[in-house]
Amino acid sequence: MIVLKFGGTSVGSSNNIKKVAKIISSNNTPKIVVLSAMSGTTNSLVEISNFYKKANLADAKLEIEILYRKYQKEIQNLFDNEEYLDKAKVLLSYIFNNLHSLLYKNEVINTEKVILAQGELLSTQIIQLYLEQENISSKLISALSFMKIDVMREPDKELISSNLQGIISKNKGIEIFVTQGFICRNTLGDIDNLDRGGSDYTASLIGAAVNASQIQIYTDIDGMHNNDPRYVDQTFSIEEISFDEAAELAYFGAKILHPQSLLPAKENNIPVLVKNTFDPQALGTLICNKPKSDYHIRAIAAKDDITAIKIKSYRMLLAYGFLKKIFEIFDKNKTSIDMITTSEVAVSLTIDNVQNIDQITDELSSFGSVEVDSELSIICIAGDIAQNNKGITATIFNSLKDIPIRMISYGGSNYNLSFLVKTSQKTEVLNLLNKGLFSKVLKTKNKVLV
Ligand code: ASP
Ligand code: MG
Repeated sequence: MIVLKFGGTSVGSSNNIKKVAKIISSNNTPKIVVLSAMSGTTNSLVEISNFYKKANLADAKLEIEILYRKYQKEIQNLFDNEEYLDKAKVLLSYIFNNLHSLLYKNEVINTEKVILAQGELLSTQIIQLYLEQENISSKLISALSFMKIDVMREPDKELISSNLQGIISKNKGIEIFVTQGFICRNTLGDIDNLDRGGSDYTASLIGAAVNASQIQIYTDIDGMHNNDPRYVDQTFSIEEISFDEAAELAYFGAKILHPQSLLPAKENNIPVLVKNTFDPQALGTLICNKPKSDYHIRAIAAKDDITAIKIKSYRMLLAYGFLKKIFEIFDKNKTSIDMITTSEVAVSLTIDNVQNIDQITDELSSFGSVEVDSELSIICIAGDIAQNNKGITATIFNSLKDIPIRMISYGGSNYNLSFLVKTSQKTEVLNLLNKGLFSKVLKTKNKVLV
């Protein structure tokens, strides 16, 4: 059994849905297909539920109408068989009528979740219908019947597994199951979700639950790249990368995978293959526990909008408990710290959420002087750095000899070296590192460095 997950862009239009159907039916391997909502739909549903929460029914209805029209257009292109087109029309009017009637419900929290769930309910039913029209034999199973979260809002892995195993054994002979990403039920039995972008997580949880041989995540790029293609011309897709290295990258740049989604796959040793729906022949990137290591630096990524805070205090000298007090301030203000470096008399750390920064700096100033620096970017180099660092750190810093570096973090994990630079120098840094670290690999791939 394999799991295939298609993201919002992959199912984002009738033409793309046709491509997805080709991929699903291209081989006989038994599979569970996890689908996101069509791109843009969940955002529209969030708007609808915001209008609903503000009791602005007029705008909520308008937004529903716009969404309805979009779907009506898509099904016209998708179904060339009248009988199936009629079925699709009935399906749309049922779901959109239901969406309307939700606006008159009183249980706000629950209703919001039900509104958000409609995107995946729509995409899966439309695609199941399309597969039927195309004579591709498949069965739609509702994620609401097996995907459960516990009181801590964590997936109930055992229950999910026994539910799914039960469904599969009751449906012997079915080769293709289709289901929704993102949506689930909570302990009250109410409709809930795994948070935005959660379809990847669904795929990985399902993979673990049925002990799949592989989880394939189909997206709109040919895998994870060695550097950010938005800022660097000569990038290539990484053939293999470890779960640890991929997890270091999940926080950065173009988020290809939901950060949490790798854990169930890693724990169960199920390889995750990131593939491109629009170029299914391309190899993609295999994320696994033991990737082949033909080179040791896998990828470079950047994250903007970073703020650095430096706390300097001579009271820190030879004192204990100082860091604890600093961390408590961030904890109290619900702000997570990303990078941290210390010296005998100062601590520098970075945050990406500045919502409570005034309160934080105010409280920190009771310990010493506080300096805040913004418009910074974290550059992350991911790879098997600690094991194979002969010359690597020298290459990195030689490449950046003319760039002022604000902070360096190395040794936190074996797979990451991060540093902080001014955002205005980010593009230059990414390009310099590409040249310094990947010129040999790029040559073998016949890419010319400019
Ligand atoms: N449709 C949901 C979202 O847009 C879940 C997903 O696509 O992963 O967040
Ligand atoms: Mg996604």
